[in-house]
Amino acid sequence: MCYSCHTPCKWYYEMTEFPKIYCNSYWGAFRSCNKPDENVFKNRNEFAKIHQLLPKQVSYNIKNKMRDLIGLNYQLMQLKFDHDEYYKTADNHFVVVVSPYTSKESKDYLELIAEGWTPVDTLYSSSAESLMIKLNLSQYVIKKCEQQRLKEAEKKAEKEAIKELMRRNIEIMKQLKLNRV
Ligand SMILES: [Zn+2]
Repeated sequence: MCYSCHTPCKWYYEMTEFPKIYCNSYWGAFRSCNKPDENVFKNRNEFAKIHQLLPKQVSYNIKNKMRDLIGLNYQLMQLKFDHDEYYKTADNHFVVVVSPYTSKESKDYLELIAEGWTPVDTLYSSSAESLMIKLNLSQYVIKKCEQQRLKEAEKKAEKEAIKELMRRNIEIMKQLKLNRV
């Protein structure tokens, strides 16, 4: 329902230049007969152009892979950012957008920058700060390969450690027998 006229008038996404890009976003599903924050609409139009966003829905599977790369699951993403948005780009990447209610001076915000998030003009509201990160699927594949290699190395090291323990045990037993003689 629209906040102004109290009828189901217009979706936010319909009021952008790129309704097919923003129709699946959390922001796009608000309704109003006017643009409550003209800047956000302008920024959304610019953002779609600058990052060459494609009008394609990003699957849950891909979203989860991007979350894995960020290091947070669905629940933690919502907790940390309130909501997250995913867009496919013309150069075969995915852009993740978050708009936490924070300020540029806050500790949380500075932490996000340190984690690799890039500030962008607000895409949500004047009381939120928007940030983006650009990722691709090969980064995900590489991460999984590295995790697998690490796991195998740990298993191998564990086996070696057990072998060493057994060797030492045998030595001790031998010593004990020798001492008894
Ligand atoms: Zn209205």
